[in-house]
Amino acid sequence: MLKKSVVITYNDYALSAVIAEQLKEKLIRAEFAVHHHFVGDEALIFTIGGDGSFIKTIHDFNFPSIPIVGINTGHLGFFQEILPEQLDLFIENYQKQNYTLQEILPLQATVYIADKRFIIKSLNEIVLRSYLGKTVHLNLSINGNFIQCFGGDGLIISSSAGSTAYNYSAGGSIVDPSINTLQITPLAPLNTNAYRSFTSSIISSSTSDIIVSPEEQYRNYISIIVDGVQKHYNDFKEIVVTTHTDPIRVIRMDNYEFWNKVTNKFL
Ligand code: NAP
Ligand code: MN
Repeated sequence: MLKKSVVITYNDYALSAVIAEQLKEKLIRAEFAVHHHFVGDEALIFTIGGDGSFIKTIHDFNFPSIPIVGINTGHLGFFQEILPEQLDLFIENYQKQNYTLQEILPLQATVYIADKRFIIKSLNEIVLRSYLGKTVHLNLSINGNFIQCFGGDGLIISSSAGSTAYNYSAGGSIVDPSINTLQITPLAPLNTNAYRSFTSSIISSSTSDIIVSPEEQYRNYISIIVDGVQKHYNDFKEIVVTTHTDPIRVIRMDNYEFWNKVTNKFL
């Protein structure tokens, strides 16, 4: 038995507000209860906008376990599944349960700042780079094994779902999201007689611990960028990144094909 309560979120594009209103009317006609905030019994979240809106909604709802579906009014819309002109078709398919749920594992990291620590979650990636435009030197270990002291602009640690975002722009590999990986992609690695830094991505299993700690003199100069949102901390000692155990669930229509989306969207 389907629960008929949904929540609609949308970004600040004029078109998104228009689509949100149309969607609301259609859903009410189909006897759904529509909310704009979490009430508690929702069966589905709509996010209207582009990938940025999708990511923001996931963060705003703290990586929810209930299904989410994206309506693309944005530029690329890689996470987004339906177009504004497909609202009726979507509602019909949803009611008939003609869809699949794509489970996506986010990243989870423990950040050590001075004598405190806290947990962050990320859908696409966590980037460590200098916030003053300087070179950074970052000690990288995987599962306690020291890999190298990396020198360069910084490191991207990407989930499989994030592999097509910043990771790809930086020369990283596109990963089929049905394979859970952690991908570490260097940003402008230094390679000289003075410094040796890896130049291509390292892909490790989703259960690995990726441990990055700045060399001591850089502890006040590193930014942590989580899904495009930049934070700066003093006395940043270490970050341990791994995969979160609880997936988010994205509604995909029955014709969804990851590789088809890749070729349509950017190859
Ligand atoms: P944005 O500047 O609009 O994002 C840049 C582009 O990345 C947009 O076209 C966005 O799609 C797309 N995108 C986001 N997640 C994606 C994914 N998983 N697969 C494929 N494309 C994806 O900023 P935003 O919308 O707030 O997104 C934040 C993300 O921007 C970050 O997580 C990071 O991955 C990405 N980013 C990319 C670069 C770069 O490529 N040089 C630099 C910084 C950040 P929409 O147009 O649908 O929003
Ligand atoms: Mn965007």
